[in-house]
Amino acid sequence: MHKRILIVEDEPSIRDMVAFALRKADMEAVPAADARAAQIAIAERIPDLILLDWMLPGMSGLELARRLRREESSREIPIIMLTARGEEMDRVNGLEAGVDDYVVKPFSARELIARIKAVLRRSQGDDGSGVIELGGLRIDGPAHRVFAGEEAVAIGPTEYRLLHFFMTHPERVYSRAQLLDHVWGGSVYVEERTVDVHIRRLRKTLEPWQLDALVQTVRGAGYRFSTSA
Ligand code: CA
Repeated sequence: MHKRILIVEDEPSIRDMVAFALRKADMEAVPAADARAAQIAIAERIPDLILLDWMLPGMSGLELARRLRREESSREIPIIMLTARGEEMDRVNGLEAGVDDYVVKPFSARELIARIKAVLRRSQGDDGSGVIELGGLRIDGPAHRVFAGEEAVAIGPTEYRLLHFFMTHPERVYSRAQLLDHVWGGSVYVEERTVDVHIRRLRKTLEPWQLDALVQTVRGAGYRFSTSA
């Protein structure tokens, strides 16, 4: 089954570029030039994911996201927001509106497709089905194993959980507190510097394959798993 991706973008050149990239990645691209056209397309058939431009003529992308989240039928559709650099400050609003991820313009088709796949994996749950490949690493959820190329990676249990979280949530910055919540569980009392310890161990684990740079420090913010330097 091809994934059906709705592209809501008023800029024809971006819309066409994205549609082309989606089709090349074996996905179905449904273009819409504004929120109204998007609502009609959604009513026709629920897409698997929506790429939503922030700045649209008429109703903004953010407002459309809010409306979709309020409706029972569209509440669960994953949304990736397309934003210009200056709009980054508004991310908080987007998170409140229930947006799943962001891609900042200008973006490459490759980056966008990677983010779409990551969000789709997350929305479908990665327990049971999940083998994830990213940046030369492969994590096999059901088998609880990690591979660098064809080689098995010996990894500790906490580092495994940390890596699994990162690989299912790539290209996003998480604070130490957020990582504690997601990886250790909110009810456990662990100091934030524990995160640093396990980040160091995870990097050391990946070092023999020169993959430690996938785990990036974002100064003043936290950590991110990213396939781009
Ligand atoms: Ca626009």
